[in-house]
Amino acid sequence: MARFGAARQYVRGCHTPTITFVQGDITEQDVDAIVNAANHSLLGGGGVDGAIHRKGGPAILAECQKLRQEEYPDGLPTGQAVATTAGKLKARWVIHTVGPTYAQSKDKSPLLADCFRNSLAVADELGAATVAFPAISTGVYRWPVDDAARIALETVRTVDTQAAEVRFVLFDRRAYDAFRAQAAPGKG
Ligand code: ADP
Repeated sequence: MARFGAARQYVRGCHTPTITFVQGDITEQDVDAIVNAANHSLLGGGGVDGAIHRKGGPAILAECQKLRQEEYPDGLPTGQAVATTAGKLKARWVIHTVGPTYAQSKDKSPLLADCFRNSLAVADELGAATVAFPAISTGVYRWPVDDAARIALETVRTVDTQAAEVRFVLFDRRAYDAFRAQAAPGKG
């Protein structure tokens, strides 16, 4: 696919970490940890989840299965996060988090914010200095991308984390533009 990695832009807010944006494939990112928009089962799915398991290989699924057996018999609750190996990916770890499905009738924004907050807490436990996020919940879970970008940026800007860089990896131009717009001067 077309990549715009060269156009990566750096935005320094008044809080650490440094927040960066790249249009591309999260499975190709050379970072300490990539975040997976997983589902409750932790056993793989479509979208970014499928891409991570395909490219990372069976070691990721094996650890997910073990987590299901030992820690999450009912699956990973929405908004929570847990780490596994990244298998054959360049990253060292995959942090799996479950985004909320979008619903007009109910404001689930705090759960989407939890995904970012809890993923960064797991990253801190691992000692991950660079962490890449996809646009959680904006695919199959149908969250409007502008609103998802607002919640993502508001959360990451104010979270207390040891991570030096949080990189948003947006798969298409529409999502990239939406996230960049939230980083524009005057937005937070
Ligand atoms: P969810 O179920 O949380 O909505 P999806 O995987 O369906 O998760 O979609 C989340 C976002 O990830 C969407 O914006 C989709 O375009 C994007 N996406 C899909 N594949 C990749 C990938 N390889 N790298 C980065 N983002 C991806």
